[in-house]
Amino acid sequence: MNNPLLEPFDQAPFSKIKNEHFKPAFLQAIDDAKKEIDDIVENPDAPTFQNTLEALDFAGQQLDRISSVFFNLNSAETNEEIQKIAQEVSPLLSEFSNDITLNQGLFERIKAVYDQKDTLKLTAEQETLLEKKYKSFSRNGANLNDSDKKRLREIDAELSKLKLKFGENVLAETNKYEMHLTHEEDLKGLPEGEKEAAAQLAESKGKDGWLITLDYPSYIPFMKYAENRELRKELSIAFGGKGFHGDELDNQENILKIVSLRHERANLLGYATHAHFVLEERMAETPEKVMDFLNELLEKAKPAAEREFGELEAFAKELDQIDRLEKWDSAFYSEKLKQKLFNLDDEKLKPYFKLENVINGVFKVAEKLFGLTFKEVQTVEKYHPEVKTFEVYDDKNNFISLFYADFHPRPGKRGGAWMTSFKSQYTLNGKNNRPHISNVCNFTKPTKSKPSLLTFNEVTTLFHEFGHGLHGMLANTTYPSLSGTSVYWDFVELPSQIMENWCYEKEALELFAFHYETGELIPMELVEKIKESATFQEGMATVRQLSFGFLDMAWHSNDPANIKDVKAYEAKAFEGTDLFPDTPQTCMSTSFSHIFQGGYSSGYYSYKWAEVLDADAFAYFKENGIFNKTVADKFKENVLSKGGTENPMELYKRFKGAEPNIDALLERAGLIKKAS
Ligand SMILES: [Zn+2]
Repeated sequence: MNNPLLEPFDQAPFSKIKNEHFKPAFLQAIDDAKKEIDDIVENPDAPTFQNTLEALDFAGQQLDRISSVFFNLNSAETNEEIQKIAQEVSPLLSEFSNDITLNQGLFERIKAVYDQKDTLKLTAEQETLLEKKYKSFSRNGANLNDSDKKRLREIDAELSKLKLKFGENVLAETNKYEMHLTHEEDLKGLPEGEKEAAAQLAESKGKDGWLITLDYPSYIPFMKYAENRELRKELSIAFGGKGFHGDELDNQENILKIVSLRHERANLLGYATHAHFVLEERMAETPEKVMDFLNELLEKAKPAAEREFGELEAFAKELDQIDRLEKWDSAFYSEKLKQKLFNLDDEKLKPYFKLENVINGVFKVAEKLFGLTFKEVQTVEKYHPEVKTFEVYDDKNNFISLFYADFHPRPGKRGGAWMTSFKSQYTLNGKNNRPHISNVCNFTKPTKSKPSLLTFNEVTTLFHEFGHGLHGMLANTTYPSLSGTSVYWDFVELPSQIMENWCYEKEALELFAFHYETGELIPMELVEKIKESATFQEGMATVRQLSFGFLDMAWHSNDPANIKDVKAYEAKAFEGTDLFPDTPQTCMSTSFSHIFQGGYSSGYYSYKWAEVLDADAFAYFKENGIFNKTVADKFKENVLSKGGTENPMELYKRFKGAEPNIDALLERAGLIKKAS
């Protein structure tokens, strides 16, 4: 069979690819990649950087290309057939990558090179590649004796079961609960659309009246708008009590088992705690640094948070004679206070943000900063007619990248917005192979009478994903595994989040924020309002985020041997961040899926960390002008083009001339006044 995926291709040949091509292509490419690995291991020559590390990094390229095409389609244009293939090939791919990390012969060769690394005269990028590859084996137990290796595998198997169970319990608890309302006055305060959704939900389950559930689209509006305080309390306690009912869905035992297995695993591998293990491969480096970071931010944000809490409490008292503000009052009175202070809604802003104008705007910003131009082309194959394709050139007219943009929702597209690539950048045999980058979003579609008009939140999302896109497009490295966005977890959001800052700047908005009918530029008092409302209750929000970071670190940077009571341990971790009275029936940890099911253990701090980075970096732009060419060049040279080729702190210092400082974030968030 002629299989377009198995022939060398540069641009993804969408028109030729049929679903039945994928499985055989995967099987063949996995086979080929295995042979390439075997050739490295069986090479009779002594291990060198080139015949081992470099060879390994360029092995399996066809498999990578096929995977990119396939999984990008599975996210943006899927169907039952593709989903079925994904189910079939995913285990094969994880087996293939496990086979590599458990390949002792391969590790011996890498270790041989690693042991002589000081005499090899490697470039900075080569050193990083060696370090990262070596670590990917050693952190998986390659240096352990056989009995420790066996124990490590047992722990890993046990942990993956427990994490799954944790998530299943949270989901079951979420689905089990429903609040059935039969009197319309109980929904008082909810916007019509939300009421309708609640009625439809009831109808779909064969019930009369309205149903409210613990799913976010149902839970959030109710907490925000429902005037019935008792019902908000009931819903809030149900939400906070997930996995904390002492029944078969309770997660307390699972948590204690997970943290103790993680601790044992870290110890086996020679680390003091799980957090030490995780943070070794993060910009933050150590639990001590993370704790210092969280504490420093808390100290600065706490006064603002307490002040905001006091204002909110006074507002609630004045409005409804509430004496003690509880957790279930927070979203409700915040929303009311926000409306009173700003009276700003999406409908006022949307006419200024026609999708085509915003795209033009982000392209112009990229041109002013990095000299890039975007030329729409019809010659590149697409996976859907709605996809737009661009060739990207630099200021010397060199081809830089292909850029795919796919903006609107479709049945086969998952929710959210993301950046991905169909081909990553790398340099091989002296040739710099340029990347193929894609942004996928779910923005409001145009209608017959109206173009696609974005909410302000969608505008910042577009700039955000485009920032990730620039990280991919401007990549300029040798090795594919270090290229573009392949950087430490707590560094990857710098290029994306920094771009959002331009959306608040007059000089940037002047490039694109024109009314779609009148052509009038967005009034600056509206922009001021957007800025002010963006920092509304930022102190409280910051302290809340920090509390999750503290809780995460409490679970993972200590020996869990003596923890007996999950709720009491959590309460201790929350000391210092509490604003609201405790609710004894609820527990955050028992449904904290980010850290007990997902990949955020010892990593929750990185949300704030990334904000500190982008605020600090943008402050540097602002000092010199937001389109200052010298600063932009430094950002491109030291951050955007470098991928993961060097330690991110070193890259950052080369860009900014100093380590990041939290003051810029505090100023932007309105938590401290700008020093004059
Ligand atoms: Zn992002």
